[in-house]
Amino acid sequence: MSTVLETEEHQALRAAVAALGKRYGRAYLTRVVGAGGHPEELWAEAAKLGYLGVNLPEEYGGGGGGIGELSIVLEELGAAGCPLLMMVVSPAICGTVIARFGTEEQKRAWLPGLADGSRTMAFGITEPDAGSNSHRITTTARKDGGDWILNGRKVFISGVDIADATLVVGRTEDARTGRLKPCLFIVPRDAPGFGRSHIRMELAAAEKQFELTLDDVRLPADALVGGGPSHAFGSGGEDAGLLQLFAGLNPERIMTAAFALGMGRYALDRAVDYARTRQVWKEPIGAHQAVAHPLAQAHIELELARLMMQKAAHLYDAGDDPAAGEAANMAKYAAGEACVRAVDQAVHTLGGNGLTAEYGLASLVTAARVARIAPVSREMILNFVSHQTLGLPKSY
Ligand SMILES: Cc1cc2nc3c(=O)[nH]c(=O)nc-3n(C[C@H](O)[C@H](O)[C@H](O)COP(=O)(O)OP(=O)(O)OC[C@H]3O[C@@H](n4cnc5c(N)ncnc54)[C@H](O)[C@@H]3O)c2cc1C
Repeated sequence: MSTVLETEEHQALRAAVAALGKRYGRAYLTRVVGAGGHPEELWAEAAKLGYLGVNLPEEYGGGGGGIGELSIVLEELGAAGCPLLMMVVSPAICGTVIARFGTEEQKRAWLPGLADGSRTMAFGITEPDAGSNSHRITTTARKDGGDWILNGRKVFISGVDIADATLVVGRTEDARTGRLKPCLFIVPRDAPGFGRSHIRMELAAAEKQFELTLDDVRLPADALVGGGPSHAFGSGGEDAGLLQLFAGLNPERIMTAAFALGMGRYALDRAVDYARTRQVWKEPIGAHQAVAHPLAQAHIELELARLMMQKAAHLYDAGDDPAAGEAANMAKYAAGEACVRAVDQAVHTLGGNGLTAEYGLASLVTAARVARIAPVSREMILNFVSHQTLGLPKSY
């Protein structure tokens, strides 16, 4: 694996995280998932070593790095066979949004816990009737005295059962224009009226997905990220909710790219190991170009996707949100596609063993598709690039 674009610190971080991942390995995750649990031991150890909060500000217990460092952590854990999907959500989206836009109280309340792993936060934007079109979300917050009352539904929200709270994207009415605009609320797991039902997925993953109902959920004023209405609606904070959302969505895409890269590398490594030794004629199967070339191609595609991810992370950490937005979308696209193809080729390389529980690769076929669908589908990224980058007209 090439690391020419990374500093010595980055390379040291990669090596240290890879060593941690190797100690747990795929067998650990398979056991945890089989028992219906969560990789709590790995989560806690990664947190203790400073990996989960590596992107969060030092003054709140984080490592003072950026999404560049956090993406290295997730990629390497994934490459060792034990990705932590909640890293995409808790430190990357929620941690970033709170660090950049939270009030001092919100930062103090959440960031140290997100960094040391003692607290976790889920993120809920997707709605059943809006899907990819987040402009159509209808979860609405209205003022009631000093409180907020939230009503709405969310779907496919990961990790709500283990998260202390969910960062919910809703809408409030703009006091000036009357238009609805996005706002982010911290909803505690046990808030009255906040219901969840488990969605049974055909995914072998530790993180569960939930449909959420918000039925007159009453929240105090300080549940709104960034503070009270004066901040959200005032001139300075006119587009506060939208800015917050984009601040969280770029890290989400970059981290999904890291998730996909890790998984793709894990699958490819298994296939290469197998192709080196499996012999059914006189040479190992890896000597046949029909086996070797697709694996070489998968490796090239993963490397290219990593370059795009590094570019996106670099732009994001340098504070260039608009350029990071485009690069993060492209990185997510490239990594998702590279992952799907690497996993497919890996399963094929193992022949019948590609479908056995012993080798455990077939379940990645479904898992790899997550990176193509979420958090934004392949088609929506192609739409984005068609319109925003190429300036082509829009059909929807
Ligand atoms: C495992 C998993 C975990 C998830 N975790 C979370 C989470 O923690 N929080 C959260 O908020 N969400 C989460 N999601 C939801 C995810 O972000 C959505 O599934 C995704 O945004 C797609 O929305 P949808 O499923 O409603 O598909 P739809 O929007 O219904 O799209 C269906 C298909 O139509 C295509 N399509 C739609 N519109 C267009 C168009 N204009 N042009 C071309 N094609 C189009 C899409 O590309 C897709 O292939 C998760 C999903 C999964 C599978």
